[in-house]
Amino acid sequence: MEAIGDIITTGSIDAAAGEQKPRPQGDGCPFCGGSGFILQADGTARHCACYAERRLRDAQKRAGLQPMLRRMSFANFDLACYAPGSVAPVGHGRTYYELAKAAKAKTEELCRAVCRGEQPRGLLLLGQVGSGKTHLAAAAANALLRKGRNVLFIVVPDLLDELKSGFGGDETAGQDLLRRAKRAEVLVLDDLGTHNMSDWTRGVLFAILNFRVNEGLTTIATSNLDEAALQEALGVRSLSRLLALCEPCFLPCDRDLRLRGLEKK
Ligand SMILES: [Zn+2]
Repeated sequence: MEAIGDIITTGSIDAAAGEQKPRPQGDGCPFCGGSGFILQADGTARHCACYAERRLRDAQKRAGLQPMLRRMSFANFDLACYAPGSVAPVGHGRTYYELAKAAKAKTEELCRAVCRGEQPRGLLLLGQVGSGKTHLAAAAANALLRKGRNVLFIVVPDLLDELKSGFGGDETAGQDLLRRAKRAEVLVLDDLGTHNMSDWTRGVLFAILNFRVNEGLTTIATSNLDEAALQEALGVRSLSRLLALCEPCFLPCDRDLRLRGLEKK
C-alpha cells in the first residue's frame, strides 16, 4: 500500500465527476503518476486503471517469470503453428494440431480447477526443444497470477545452478526459494532433466517433488526428454513422484517455434 502522503503528492485530483485526466508531468502512468491511486474531489482515493496491471507485474516478478514469459498467454498460443495434416510420431494417430489443441485445453482446465479452489493433478508437458511447452506453462502461470493465485515459476537448470553457487553467499535466499518451491499453490518446473545432474541436484529435486506429492500440490513441469531419459536424469524415485504429481501430456511440433520469428525475417 502506498502511504497517503505519496498518494496525495502523486495522484491527480478529479475535480469533475470521476473523469481521469492525463497529467503531463511525472513518471509512469499519466493518470496517477505511478502511484496507482487517483485522489477524488471528496478526498477519497480510488485505484487508477493501471493498478491491476501494476499488481500483475509485481506478482509476475515475485513468481520468477522473466519478462519474455510474462507476455505469454493462452490467447497468443498459436495453434496455427501445429500441422493439422501430419500425424505426430508420439501421438497415437493424432496430428500435431490435435495434440496441441488437447494440451492447451488441459492446461486451461487445470487453471480453472485451481481457481475453483481445487488442487488438480498437474501436467508434465513433453516435447522437443521449441515445441511450445514453456509457452503453455507460462500462460498458465500468468492466467493464475491474474486471478491472484500463488504461483512459482522455476527454470530448473537455473535453480540448480543458483543453489549450487550458494546464491552469491546469500544462504537465506536459497532456503527461501526452496521453501517456496515446496509450498507454492502451483509450481512450474520448466526444462526438467536437462541439467547435468549430480546426487546433490537429484536430492534437491526429490525433496521438492516428494513434499508436493505428500501435500497434493498442483505442479506443472516441462521437459524435452522422454520417460527413459527423464528416469536417467532424475532417478527412479523422483520420476515416480513426478508422475504421481503430473499427467504426461505430449506437445510435439514439427519445427522449432522459437526460430519462427527468425524465419519470418
Ligand atoms: Zn495509473
